[in-house]
Amino acid sequence: MSAYEDLMAYERVTQALGSVAGRTGWDQETMMPAGAAELRAEEMAALEEVLHARRCNPQIGDWIETAEAKDETAAANLRLIKRRYERTTKIPSELATAMARHTSMGQGVWAQARSDNDFASFAPVLTEMIRLKREEAACLSEDGDAYDALLEDYEPGMTGVELAAMFDRMRPRLVALREKVLGAGAPIALDHAFDEPAQMALTQELSQAFGYDLNIGRIDKAVHPFSSGSGTDVRITTRTSARDPFNSIYSTIHEVGHACYEQAVDHAHLLTPVGSGVSMGVHESQSRIYENQLGRSRAFTGWLFGKMRDQFGDFGVADEDAFYRVVNSVSSGYIRTEADEVHYNLHVMLRFDLERQLIAGDLEVADLEEAWNARFEADFGVAVDKPANGVLQDVHWSFGLFGYFPTYSLGNVYAGCLYQSLREAVPDLDAQLAKGETSTATGWLRDNLQRFGGLREPRETIIHACGFEPTEAPLLDYLDQKFGALYGV
Ligand code: ZN
Repeated sequence: MSAYEDLMAYERVTQALGSVAGRTGWDQETMMPAGAAELRAEEMAALEEVLHARRCNPQIGDWIETAEAKDETAAANLRLIKRRYERTTKIPSELATAMARHTSMGQGVWAQARSDNDFASFAPVLTEMIRLKREEAACLSEDGDAYDALLEDYEPGMTGVELAAMFDRMRPRLVALREKVLGAGAPIALDHAFDEPAQMALTQELSQAFGYDLNIGRIDKAVHPFSSGSGTDVRITTRTSARDPFNSIYSTIHEVGHACYEQAVDHAHLLTPVGSGVSMGVHESQSRIYENQLGRSRAFTGWLFGKMRDQFGDFGVADEDAFYRVVNSVSSGYIRTEADEVHYNLHVMLRFDLERQLIAGDLEVADLEEAWNARFEADFGVAVDKPANGVLQDVHWSFGLFGYFPTYSLGNVYAGCLYQSLREAVPDLDAQLAKGETSTATGWLRDNLQRFGGLREPRETIIHACGFEPTEAPLLDYLDQKFGALYGV
């Protein structure tokens, strides 16, 4: 066998073990009996140990040296394996162990601090986490920018400087839009109790409407919605809330977007690096375009209104137009995960600026809560009432996920670009969505983006699909147009 074939045979086993680890993680959130937690922790740690040893195996370095790529797919696999191998081996094992230990401890402290509304009790843990992340960044890139080194884990090729410039262009337009919209009327909410088994039935129907293949997927309930797996076993979870059916509806459509991406990658790439979604940003572009540009459109919500009436009877909303306004109600809430399309990216920018300053050493943890609150009030016009609604709301920093937040907005920006090209390619898109028919739209995404998986770098993946260099302009134009029309501003 050639060096490339040897490398790929080895990689296939590593990927299969990684896939088992992922499935075990899914089980822990859905099916596992509560009393199994300790055993499960040991099982997962054992799997991680095996995976880590395989990923650091110096033999990989030798194979990479001599392997030859005979086509585009092989070149992409080699590039991805090389990147991961270099990143893994640059981090000393003592540092990796210290991070793992600090992360699992940190999450518990964060959860307690959030429920106590006490940032001071989390501050020392966060300070140590930032120290470890800076050390990690220094190992990864001796003289480069520390934040960029961390960002590379989630969005290869993207830089903090580029993101900052993009956010600087986005922020004034979004702040202006939110002010106009909020000035035009109070937010509208549902006031009804929605049967939870009926909500689950509706999530099944919606997942089918968006082309999720239940022969190679399944839907279960979990505390937090997520999608897990790739290729021929991609599962999602959802949750229900009696007073808020949009929670299950839109988190399902969102996760279906992630899951359809993973299901659609050419199955010839199964268990290879090319065989899954290319980056967090591109992944989020799929979940967001399913959820927002398609799922919250006037056309699709018209169809959804009928389905809601079928499941729940009269729920106090008169007609399709009123329903569209309820789905797209805008309000300046504290919580990122509950934010509407107008506010969402403002939440992300706040976190991006603060975490970049933290990693650069320009902001001390002791000053973080105050910096958060000041920025929130400036952008949202409301004072933060308690840390659980402010600086302690997200789990990410306790996990050591620095550089992750901006990929959420990048996903929205990419979704904006893709939607513009999709509309040109499918002129009667609205007529189709009005019938609950998404297959032309999702088929376009599958053919132009999803099936390629990691074949191209993230930015090139988007350029290949939409035919132009991605910018924030299509997203901002879409938001101005949609919410301008909706609120008459
Ligand atoms: Zn997502």
